Amino acid sequence: MTTIPLTPVAPIIERCQQLFDDLDFNAVKAWKAAVPGRKAIGYMPVYVPRELIHAAGMLSVGILGGGDQLEVIQGDAYYQSYICRIPRSTIELGLTGRLDCLDGMLFPSICDVIRNLSGMWQILFKDKYVKYVDVPQNYVDSIGGTFYIQEMELLREDLGKLRGKPVTDAELNASIAVYNDNRAAVRDLYTYRAAKPWQAPTAEVYLLLRAGMVLPPEEHTQIIREYLAAVDTVARPKRDNARVVINGSFCEQPPLALIKSIEMSGCYIVDDDFMLVTRWLLDEVPADGNPMQELSKAFLHRSATTAAKYEATREEKGVFLMKQVHTRGAEGVIFAAPSFCDPALLERPMLQDVLTKHKIPHTAFKFAENTGQMAPIREQSGTFADSIKLWSAA
Ligand code: SF4
Repeated sequence: MTTIPLTPVAPIIERCQQLFDDLDFNAVKAWKAAVPGRKAIGYMPVYVPRELIHAAGMLSVGILGGGDQLEVIQGDAYYQSYICRIPRSTIELGLTGRLDCLDGMLFPSICDVIRNLSGMWQILFKDKYVKYVDVPQNYVDSIGGTFYIQEMELLREDLGKLRGKPVTDAELNASIAVYNDNRAAVRDLYTYRAAKPWQAPTAEVYLLLRAGMVLPPEEHTQIIREYLAAVDTVARPKRDNARVVINGSFCEQPPLALIKSIEMSGCYIVDDDFMLVTRWLLDEVPADGNPMQELSKAFLHRSATTAAKYEATREEKGVFLMKQVHTRGAEGVIFAAPSFCDPALLERPMLQDVLTKHKIPHTAFKFAENTGQMAPIREQSGTFADSIKLWSAA
């Protein structure tokens, strides 16, 4: 048997894979056990201001369902069959005690399913802190901004009570600086992948992002930096793959095997909407001003776009996606949305219209986090890649 020598990349990705596979959240338990009294707060996709949790000295933990390794038994009893899978597997995680390490859960306003889940959580886990985090649907500072600051102030107050001491502006500014570093590292990772997708395959980039769901941001930033340094020292084969953007996977996550299948079929994923919380705010948030105002301004004026974010006019639809296509040099878009995901599937035809108008090839399919059959997806994305290479070249 041939032994493949370990590259410097391998141990980093192995660690991220272990964190990804661990549905018992042992990394969170270990972080809490290291200092008595520490608290951890879970949050669902797409975005919460994690700076507030960090400023309260707590660990923010991204909850992304149970993936393809969790058998959902009790969770199915809570939702109709025509509802996506992430709320069922999240309920399953909760009812099986896997989320007992969390002291609270945040449910951002993304869709009715998550809103309902927040209500169920309040009933099921009465001893835990639960908050539905509403975000503005208006992007004027004096209207949507005022609302959002009030919403964040409520959360800040609650977290202060939970730790027994109010969260100060200085603490918040320090946390904004920590997350600025983290966002910069994630941006560098995405820029590197777009430039050399054969060097940084998305299966690895994905695992790196997932590690950020359970690790403190400082440690996550360091891991990304280590990966970027390590991966550039290994020469990996470059293929004539089609460069694609993935759209629609911002909430329930595709199985890792699905991401690998897309890549193996001849596509380089050069941008995506996985775990948008890591790059929702698009640039540096000033860390020396009024922290709530700065976080609000960044959300209102300098944030990413997804189906769950309100857009006031039809003209805005697809602008963010087209920008992703152009800045990443993508040749096509794969719409990969969870089955029964209302926001993604309602938006999809509007985005398809925009792409068609701009002559950007696109294809679409649905998945569930426990999708097992990869052959049809691999065939579809492979045919899509071939069609780009054969017929889209100028
Ligand atoms: S997958 Fe879609 S429908 Fe389901 S909870 Fe997430 S955003 Fe809502």
